[in-house]
Amino acid sequence: MDASIARALDCFTWLTSSVRSLVKQDRVAYLQGLASRVTLADVQRPKDLYAAVRRAFPGARAARRANFQALPAVLLADGTTALDPATRVLRWAEYFGEQEAGEAIELADYPQHFSSAQPDPSLGGPHFEIAALPTLQSVEQQILALPARKAVGPDGIAAELLHVSVVHSAAALYPVYLKTALGLREPAAWRGGNLICLAKRASSLMSCSAFRSILLESVPGKLWHRILRSQLTASFAGVCLDLQAGQLPGIGTDSVALAVRSYQQLTKRRGRRCGLVFYDVRAAFYMLLRQTLVPTTEQDATLLGLLDRLAPSAHTTALISDLLRGTWFRMDGAAALILTHRGGRPGDPLADILFAFSFSAYLRAAEQALASKGLSPPVPCARDTPFWQEWEPPQHIQFGAWADDFVNLRDALTGPGLCADIQASTGLITAHASAVGMTLTFAVDKTAALISSDCGRGADLGLRSDDTGQLGLDIHDPVMQAWHFLPVVDSYKHLGGIVTANGTAGTDLSFRFSKAQGALRPLYRRLFSAPDIPQKVRKLLLQALVISRFVFTAASQIFGAEIYKRQWCRMYVVLWRGLLRWSSAEATPHSYEVLRFAAATNPLLALAHMRAVFLRRLTRHGPATLIHLLKAHWAVDPVRSWLGHLHDDLRAVAVYVAPVQALLSAPCPVAAILESVVTDEHWWPRQIKLASSRFADRLEVWAGQRGRTMPSGIAPAPEPTEEDRPFACQWCTARFRLRKHLAAHAAKSHGILCPARHFTPTSTCQACLRMYHSVERACYHTKRSRECLLRLAHLMPPMTLAQIRLADAEEVQRRKKLKKGQWQAFEATTPAQPTFGPRRPTRAEMLLGLDEEDVTLDLLARTFRPKPSVLAWLNEYFDEASREGPRTSTAGYWLQPPSGAPSVSVSIVVSPFCE
Ligand SMILES: [Zn+2]
Ligand SMILES: [Zn+2]
Repeated sequence: MDASIARALDCFTWLTSSVRSLVKQDRVAYLQGLASRVTLADVQRPKDLYAAVRRAFPGARAARRANFQALPAVLLADGTTALDPATRVLRWAEYFGEQEAGEAIELADYPQHFSSAQPDPSLGGPHFEIAALPTLQSVEQQILALPARKAVGPDGIAAELLHVSVVHSAAALYPVYLKTALGLREPAAWRGGNLICLAKRASSLMSCSAFRSILLESVPGKLWHRILRSQLTASFAGVCLDLQAGQLPGIGTDSVALAVRSYQQLTKRRGRRCGLVFYDVRAAFYMLLRQTLVPTTEQDATLLGLLDRLAPSAHTTALISDLLRGTWFRMDGAAALILTHRGGRPGDPLADILFAFSFSAYLRAAEQALASKGLSPPVPCARDTPFWQEWEPPQHIQFGAWADDFVNLRDALTGPGLCADIQASTGLITAHASAVGMTLTFAVDKTAALISSDCGRGADLGLRSDDTGQLGLDIHDPVMQAWHFLPVVDSYKHLGGIVTANGTAGTDLSFRFSKAQGALRPLYRRLFSAPDIPQKVRKLLLQALVISRFVFTAASQIFGAEIYKRQWCRMYVVLWRGLLRWSSAEATPHSYEVLRFAAATNPLLALAHMRAVFLRRLTRHGPATLIHLLKAHWAVDPVRSWLGHLHDDLRAVAVYVAPVQALLSAPCPVAAILESVVTDEHWWPRQIKLASSRFADRLEVWAGQRGRTMPSGIAPAPEPTEEDRPFACQWCTARFRLRKHLAAHAAKSHGILCPARHFTPTSTCQACLRMYHSVERACYHTKRSRECLLRLAHLMPPMTLAQIRLADAEEVQRRKKLKKGQWQAFEATTPAQPTFGPRRPTRAEMLLGLDEEDVTLDLLARTFRPKPSVLAWLNEYFDEASREGPRTSTAGYWLQPPSGAPSVSVSIVVSPFCE
């Protein structure tokens, strides 16, 4: 028996590994086939190419499109596995039916159920409004707009069929739509469809909660709902929150993300503490209460205010009422019909906008409740600016929302005040959610609070740790009489980007870069750098798959410090370098060479271009809150705010375009740009384009000169004189321009580290007893404090290299993770804290005031005396400390046009692709 189990296990392991290797082989074969086809393919059809590449690389697919195929098994409610297909289908129907308050009925009973179903469209009727009727033209337009290659509903009519002859299809369908609109009753077949289960993620199998459902509806039915949707969009603009993105054109997730970042940095600059509370609603689309949208016979008076604004006319409202009654679904392949009573029917073209109506009503109600309790976040004041005058400052800072995710921006003067504020406001919001039948899920990646790092994480904040050691706040929900644990996190993934407690851009940049590299690396050898594929094709694919997203997301980034912008520029060049191959680290192509080969513009101009596009959208569509936040941030921090970045863009363009140079000397160059967007919105993008083409010309000149001076390889930099490099290494002949370059060389080549690192074993400075939360920060402190470092030298011998490595191990690990894009590893750098306890005495202190007979050999053995050479080393270190001031040479690397003389290369020596 045991032997057979062992054999079975062995076979299983063998099967797993062989299936995996076969999958790998298959993929390699496909990619090679693809590469050979790309060679012949026409560049004119980039869409087909793009689709083919995506098929080859499933990881590059959008996160929401899962191609995971679950096993046909499911766990029942009691935890056992369903034994036959009938039980399985029943379980699915039960689970999804419960979400939408469904009841299983017989097909024959449907008419009877329908006649008593709510809401009643004839309520308040009769209804007739000419604008609510569809026109033949609108039907034709909607047919043309139907996306192809989508699954069909139970009637089997596909979009492709209607596309064959749009005129005939529209003429055939129009009578049905007209009858539906006049009779306030759509065909029963349009009221439902087949339900398909989609796995949310491949890791958790067989449990119903790991799946969500999508409704496959009749295409003509969808078409009708699309016509209704276009009628609703206009009235949604009236009720939509200022920072609610997703339904209206012009306001995307990047607007909301930028508002959050701006608010965070603005609050920090104003010396206040910032808290961001992110909310996640469980199965929000499925649990939508239809009574909140359309009038019903058992009408609640408080809901009426909302209803008036849903649709432009009572007739349209009645049409919406009609499509919300008698809705049904059927599990794919099952006979039983489930009649549903709530939910916006995800999969339907109307689902998102109906949900957005209801959701904005909820958010408004919650905001009013916050305001009545005095918990509305105050609007930061902004200096009067000469631009964007037409945008009124908002009454209060509203929620930022996208689909069913929303964020509440909070600030307070002190950390404890902030936590109390978050506790009170979240309690209120949770209660409101419960009251309208929504459930918030509390978890580190769902509903969680991000508290700025300057609050610290001390006991005064009133935070509690749960069983897993996660810090958080207890939230009381008075409606459900329940307590929830709101986790307090250091980093959060919000709308595709990473927000961190210290509000810097580094973690987000690493995350986005690692994602871009993840798309680049698997195809690097085979496709992007393959010399036998035309350069144009490769560039096109690289741009489409990798670069465009990376650059696009940077437009809504606030870099904060110059170092992050430099980091971004470096990443940009590294990504373009994916088109090239090189043999060794020394032969890494020069950044100019990379951009010249790729025919790409320089990173600052690419950034300026993306920001110009964003700016145009902002000026046209708002939102007003974001505009106000940007202005307010700019007022307190003219250099490092988003509007301040426009000034940087001006400088980058002015290098190549003379008229822009004149703009730079204007009293307020940022205002000049914004004015230009209003008067001629194409002027600024045109200047950037001009600058890009001049940059390309300069690159050619640079390449020509380089070719003349150096026929092969990389041109060596002119030999600097000794005065240029005053810092000489005492162990070899190397000389350096700056002291820190010498220190870096000594550490790398000779293993000689900065003295402070030899005396910092933990995150607490043993001399002044301050806790810095990380060895690196403690080291930074001792490096700059002569007093502390000398005292430490009197307490302990310098640590060996192995000991230093041990002390640093944890942080080195974390830095590596962050660099790889694992943002969860981020830890907030909270302010240094004093620790308690007596300081360790030095030898002099121990012997102070003792008579000679009191000084025993035992006591002497316990004291420590540093070697004179160590003290001399430390004193020399501090005496030679230089003050270098801010860097001026490298900050403007991309602000200098490429010149004939080869400048210092910014390329990173270590490339992930070097073999
Ligand atoms: Zn040396
Ligand atoms: Zn100290």
